[in-house]
Amino acid sequence: MPLGEFELIASYFSRPVRRAVLGGGDDCALIAPTAGMQLAVTSDMLVEGRHFLSTVSPDSLGHKALAVNLSDLAACGARPLAFTLALSLPRASEAFLGPFAQGLYALADLHDVELVGGDTTAGPLTICITAFGEVEPGQALRRDGARVGDELWVSHPAGGGLGDARLALEVFRDRIRLSSDDFALARRAMERPSPRVALGRALRGIARSAIDLSDGLVGDLGHILERSNVGARLNLAALPRSTMLAAQDPGLQRLCLLHGGDDYELLFSAPPARCEAVGRAAAEAGVAVTRIGEIESMPGLRLVESDGAVTAPSSTTGFDHFRDGLGES
Ligand code: ADP
Ligand code: MG
Repeated sequence: MPLGEFELIASYFSRPVRRAVLGGGDDCALIAPTAGMQLAVTSDMLVEGRHFLSTVSPDSLGHKALAVNLSDLAACGARPLAFTLALSLPRASEAFLGPFAQGLYALADLHDVELVGGDTTAGPLTICITAFGEVEPGQALRRDGARVGDELWVSHPAGGGLGDARLALEVFRDRIRLSSDDFALARRAMERPSPRVALGRALRGIARSAIDLSDGLVGDLGHILERSNVGARLNLAALPRSTMLAAQDPGLQRLCLLHGGDDYELLFSAPPARCEAVGRAAAEAGVAVTRIGEIESMPGLRLVESDGAVTAPSSTTGFDHFRDGLGES
């Protein structure tokens, strides 16, 4: 007998809650945010063949489904509280559910955030998480706060950079080859991103604008520029990259760095006078940050090439699910 819907929920998604007033099992969950705090709410859906490849392990999928949502809370400087999980599954496979739940709960424990409910149905593999966080009134990091003269910063793994997730995608698409060690690294970047929650919290009162990088640096920076009514220049040589990416041909490096997607790093702006405070916030959060450009009054984005020439990006839009597919090759 295959697992039924309620057995499935009871077996895999019914851990007792510690902080919420009421978790799964009733018509609603009850969350008690700290008095006076604002609730930060975000949803991200992952669809097989579009947001992830069928080759991903269930454990990594559980991790990533929550990671992309925590990354949105991070970009707002919010402290994660709870999340719900809406799951559409082709079949109630225990071989899938066990490691999926494990990957999900491992990241949840790391960030002290708890599953408080959801919905479960049979259907194409789709995962939608809604995450709830809290932030002090007026302290949320937003896309619309960038000011002319701000410096632009990006977070990244120490010794690494942006674009490795895109490099893995290029391998899956059979466009390039990597050594097995490099492929393992790139695949890890793609499948197991680390949401920069501590950094987002530490940047409250320091950063003037922020966004998490999910659709590529140029497209996501474009959202800050549009919402803040400003322009920017990016210093290409300054963009942090792994030694693996730095060994690729320049065109591919550019694609991965500028239009890569799936980085889940924080891009933010801060006044030059807060440069040291940014450094302290990053050190406190245990994340590397690099200054990559500045906010200007002239609308649009300018790229400063390594020889000093100023160019325009080949495309200013980020990844668009209705125009650009993930594509199983
Ligand atoms: P309702 O009929 O009220 O929508 P459901 O029958 O869909 O409730 O779900 C029963 C309970 O199980 C609810 O409390 C719901 O939050 C919880 N639940 C359902 N699916 C999940 C899931 N994937 N993860 C966690 N809790 C879930
Ligand atoms: Mg329901």
